[in-house]
Amino acid sequence: MIVVMKERATEAQIAAVTERLEAYGFEVQPVIGARQTVLGAAGVQPDFDVRHIQVLDGVSNVVRVTSSYKYVGRSWQEEDTVIDIKGVRVGGDEVVMMAGPCSVESEEQLDAAAAAVAAEGATFLRGGAFKPRSSPYSFQGLGEEGLRLLRTVADRHDLRVITEVMTPSQVDLVGQYADVFQIGARNMQNFDLLRAVGRTETPVFLKRGLSATIKEWLMSAEYVMASGNPHVILCERGIRTFESSTRNTLDLSAVPVVKNRSHLPVFVDPSHAVGFRDKVVPLARAAVAVGADGLMVEVHPDPPRALSDGPQSLFFDQFSDMMRQLRLVAEAVGRPMRAAHETSV
Ligand code: PEP
Ligand code: MN
Repeated sequence: MIVVMKERATEAQIAAVTERLEAYGFEVQPVIGARQTVLGAAGVQPDFDVRHIQVLDGVSNVVRVTSSYKYVGRSWQEEDTVIDIKGVRVGGDEVVMMAGPCSVESEEQLDAAAAAVAAEGATFLRGGAFKPRSSPYSFQGLGEEGLRLLRTVADRHDLRVITEVMTPSQVDLVGQYADVFQIGARNMQNFDLLRAVGRTETPVFLKRGLSATIKEWLMSAEYVMASGNPHVILCERGIRTFESSTRNTLDLSAVPVVKNRSHLPVFVDPSHAVGFRDKVVPLARAAVAVGADGLMVEVHPDPPRALSDGPQSLFFDQFSDMMRQLRLVAEAVGRPMRAAHETSV
């Protein structure tokens, strides 16, 4: 809020307005000009009625500086949000790896993927049970059976479950199995869904929409937080541009931009960003270097036969090699990353 004092305002009036603003909890920064004094009043008070100040002696005008988001911003919370998910601190020092197949297809497929990623230090198993496919004729996921498999297999390998929820009516069901709700890119502005997951306490992994600006993405996070759930993780997964050589364009600059504006953890999904497995690894390295708090990567025991996103899914040996490289990059930027288990699969 900016309080513009009248040109002839006296020092006593300026002091009185300052005192009143401070009493309301604002931090006041005076800017004393040659003709006029302006008082900057900082502090987030969305319901504050500016007329309380407008009516004071010596005040010329009060201007509200509104921001589209509040809870997601650093002015609301300066320190980074760290979300403890069954002992893994998301948004803390450690670079966290979420990996697994695009879709849950069978217990054998999921178990093989879970064993491979857990052995390399991943702590979350990803996999879609409800799939947002661009074509209604593509594989739509196993539904509740897929959720059940995710939970069973993840528990077997000491992994946490992240899976997509597509509609408000699925929130209760998916919430019975998932440790983290994934909101897919296509649903980033499904405001009813954002509110529905916002009414739960389960952490929400919010992917950036296909054509969403950073501001729109943060406003979607605001929907979740304003509904009562502070546990939001943001994920950059590539945006639509004129470039057609890759599936999307990975906006790596979003990572430092968002980390500057928001206290929320920021992840990168290089798989959906680039769409080709040979390019996933270099982008993953870049994501860690640029400051991502974690990555989401698609891995499949038999990518050529995957029911969805096979071309971008890593083979197990590629995943192992990627993890080895990422640990080096993480070390170079001063962040810990889990080691591979001694007994590799
Ligand atoms: C996915 O994670 O499988 C997925 C569909 O991602 P996105 O919403 O980013 O396209
Ligand atoms: Mn996918």
